[in-house]
Amino acid sequence: MKKSKFLFILLFLALASGAFLYFRDTAPPQISLTPDTGAIAPGRPLILALDDQGRGLKNISVTLIQQGGAHPLLIKSYPPGTLSARENLSLDNTALTEGPFDIVISATDHAIYHFGAGNTAEKTLSFTFDKTPPIVNVTSTGHNFVQGGASLVTYTLNEPVEKTGVTFSDRFIPAYKQPSGSYACLVPFPNDLAVNDFVPKIVAVDTAGNERITGIFYRAKKGDFRQRRIDIDDRFLQAKTPEFQSLVPNAGSPLDIFLAVNRELRAKNRQELATLSLQTSPTPLWQGKFLRQPQSATLALYGDRRSYYYQGRKIDNQIHLGIDLASVAQAPVIASNSGKIVFAGYFGIYGQCVVIDHGLGLQTLYGHLSQITVTQGEDVTRDQVIGHTGNTGMAGGDHLHFGVVVAGIPVNPVEWWDGTWVKNNITSRL
Ligand SMILES: [Zn+2]
Repeated sequence: MKKSKFLFILLFLALASGAFLYFRDTAPPQISLTPDTGAIAPGRPLILALDDQGRGLKNISVTLIQQGGAHPLLIKSYPPGTLSARENLSLDNTALTEGPFDIVISATDHAIYHFGAGNTAEKTLSFTFDKTPPIVNVTSTGHNFVQGGASLVTYTLNEPVEKTGVTFSDRFIPAYKQPSGSYACLVPFPNDLAVNDFVPKIVAVDTAGNERITGIFYRAKKGDFRQRRIDIDDRFLQAKTPEFQSLVPNAGSPLDIFLAVNRELRAKNRQELATLSLQTSPTPLWQGKFLRQPQSATLALYGDRRSYYYQGRKIDNQIHLGIDLASVAQAPVIASNSGKIVFAGYFGIYGQCVVIDHGLGLQTLYGHLSQITVTQGEDVTRDQVIGHTGNTGMAGGDHLHFGVVVAGIPVNPVEWWDGTWVKNNITSRL
């Protein structure tokens, strides 16, 4: 057979089968609804997707059926050639009462079959209408927050939820369900948030989508933070530029490189801490107070407002979000409390760094290490050596940067070193 004749036959077959499918189209439209079952709140959107790859959609009807009564929700016709459609359905302002109901969806296409009536698909889906938000019962009392500090909020809910925690400003802090059935939310008061903007409220969304927001009784006190001047000299820049250069390639002069690390990399590392905070145990892995690096002197405090100067000129402002501790060079660094290693490696401004998860979104961070002696995924006990101090990352000398992070927000370690504070504000509520 000649090649051209063969191609002609192929083309004929393709055209013939296309025409056959076009006129035939016995397939009714495809219907899918999301969600397609379960409890549903009035405000929860229902997304209806319709698809007819034959002659296209002609019309649809959506009807709610409850206790024998039928309530039309949507009746719609489509222009010829509509191969797919998406409709957002809402149960707001319907005649539904709480309890079971069905949604019946009927869709017809433009096929000439059935004497021009087209192919009809019908789908019935069962739901439960639920317009009652969860009831929140706050069980903890005496929430005394200091700017830069934390407190534990505990509460019970009367039904299962898909989301719950504490919200303030534009933040959401997840709560974790405890074996007792109650919820525990370790809430940080960010040190750069004004007292008036810190209004923590419990939020709970049930599986149907009903949301409850409940206020809590609390006190919020302004923190007391120091102003600090840091002089950046050429000796520091010379020593650190090779390391910083690899972190911010193409940043420019040594000073530009320093500023890129101090600003952009610092901000990026904060974001990464927030992501890391989600890798947490839902129950506490720690016990009692947190240990302070033994026999060390405090070099810098949490919340220090740092102004950076170069050649007498102010070049940057940053807030120090941990405590700097120093003893001898390359001193052993201990785990402040028991937990699981969620990070062990190079971490931007923190240099060689270890992050331990203690559960409930609480984590401790050990920065500027010269050596790390643990690996990610490992369980550690309180007082276990996890590495040695050093000056990697944004450090001008050998020391430990110790950070306590709650839900990705660095808080004041001093609270966690105080056994009475830990007992009164955290563990006695669990
Ligand atoms: Zn530090």
